[in-house]
Amino acid sequence: MKPSNIIDLNDRKAVEDFVNRFDYIICDCDGVLWIDKDVIPGAPQTLNKLRSLGKKIIFATNNSTKTREEFLNKLKTFGFVANLKELFPSSYTTAIYLQMIKFSGKVYILGSSGIAKELAKVHIESFGVGPDETPSNWSPGMADFDLDPNVKAVAVGFDNQLSFPKLAKACSYVKNPKCLFIATNRDETYPSSKPEVVVPGPGALVSAIETVTGRESISLGKPGTFFFDCIRYIHPEIDPKRTVMIGDRLTTDMVFGHNNGLKTFHVQTGIGTFEEMIDFARSDKSEDQLCVPEYYAKSLAQILPFL
Ligand SMILES: [Mg+2]
Repeated sequence: MKPSNIIDLNDRKAVEDFVNRFDYIICDCDGVLWIDKDVIPGAPQTLNKLRSLGKKIIFATNNSTKTREEFLNKLKTFGFVANLKELFPSSYTTAIYLQMIKFSGKVYILGSSGIAKELAKVHIESFGVGPDETPSNWSPGMADFDLDPNVKAVAVGFDNQLSFPKLAKACSYVKNPKCLFIATNRDETYPSSKPEVVVPGPGALVSAIETVTGRESISLGKPGTFFFDCIRYIHPEIDPKRTVMIGDRLTTDMVFGHNNGLKTFHVQTGIGTFEEMIDFARSDKSEDQLCVPEYYAKSLAQILPFL
């Protein structure tokens, strides 16, 4: 049995009431619209229908592996209507943050090309993406690499070419208290097409650097409030009270919604399950209550027949 205050969007009345409560949708991508290279059935039709009803859509993803243009291409390939101004990957919010603080210096990236390309668009130099030239059998006795004195920030994202030397370099830069330490996001895992395969997310790398250096990162992804500040910077007219956050991850998307005064809708096509939602709802801990959505559905497609 689910707690009665969480509404299953499985009939016309519930969906109509829901849709009348918001003008803006902030929609997560991985696990809601697609899983890796596979679109989630019915997601494009549902979002496009909501758009045709006058709802404004923001695509907000902690994923920092791509640029806005690359995400736009992916959305269009899958049949979503979208435009560049609606896209907020954490690669882009990192660039906005550094611009807002008038950052000057180079950025060492433990992450993917999306961050480097978004930084380049705002004229911030960076390096570190891709394989490191230091031998992979590098050991503490070979602590012979030079640090670039112009590096004033380290940005951490999803890095599938992580190596021990790259981690050592990131930690060495962050050890300097004058170097900014930025987590594009702290997701523990990425959605996997095989449930038994666990894909570590940037949170694993951020925690490793925090453990080594004793410093805490500045987190620019969901569930932090900075991500919403970024959206508001580009869309100042957005009203949190008339906005719904749609996401699959209870510990980031739903918390992000609550932290920013948004309505919350959990779709169970990605990381967070119905059972986890119920466990959070039954918990007495206030931090667990932040993970509980107001609405849920098995998928975005579930609400389509009622729109
Ligand atoms: Mg997700």
